[in-house]
Amino acid sequence: MLLKIGNKEVNCKIKYKKTRHAYLKLNPNYCLEITLPENNSVSAETILKEKQNWLKRKVGELGKSVKLFEEDSVYYKGEKYGVNIVRDKNSGIKIFDNSIEIYKFGKRKTENILLEFLADETLEYVSVKAEEFSSIFGLYPKSVSIKNLRSFGHCKRDGRIFFNSKLICLPIPLIDYVVAHELVHLKHFNHSKDFKLGVEKILPNYRELEKELKKYHW
Ligand SMILES: [Zn+2]
Repeated sequence: MLLKIGNKEVNCKIKYKKTRHAYLKLNPNYCLEITLPENNSVSAETILKEKQNWLKRKVGELGKSVKLFEEDSVYYKGEKYGVNIVRDKNSGIKIFDNSIEIYKFGKRKTENILLEFLADETLEYVSVKAEEFSSIFGLYPKSVSIKNLRSFGHCKRDGRIFFNSKLICLPIPLIDYVVAHELVHLKHFNHSKDFKLGVEKILPNYRELEKELKKYHW
């Protein structure tokens, strides 16, 4: 089923689940997942009608969303850079005003060189930031590391925290928000009111940042 929302085409996929309520999820590729109760108590038409304003808003937001990592361009600290490949016997990366140049020789994949660069930069930044927040707010993780995650960050119950290895693509205030968010999970392993108060203590404007972060995806 294809829906037209504004000037965008949204592809719908219907799933049935053991649930009492129907719900919608809009993915970044404009694919709408419609989950319906197995017992057919709610139809796709009903939920789409009920949620039409939500859907319009979400499609609009997606139009403004930012894809951080693409084949020929990448975001670094919130700025977009084109990626140029330069053949050179010494491999490396240099950042210019609008572009990132990757020097390479031989078969090493450009994407891997870029990913390694982003991972190194991410680890360096989040380690320093986590230490800074830890010493001020007394939230000490067991370890801070980077991982190939789908989410921005992740906190384990044993106190280890992980960050997406491409986190450095985001604007700095948003990286700081992700660091604060995961650190506060060391104290509150949920998104309760106390958790939010904890994040607010570190970043008083966290609500804005949280909203802003929703614009970005990989
Ligand atoms: Zn969380």
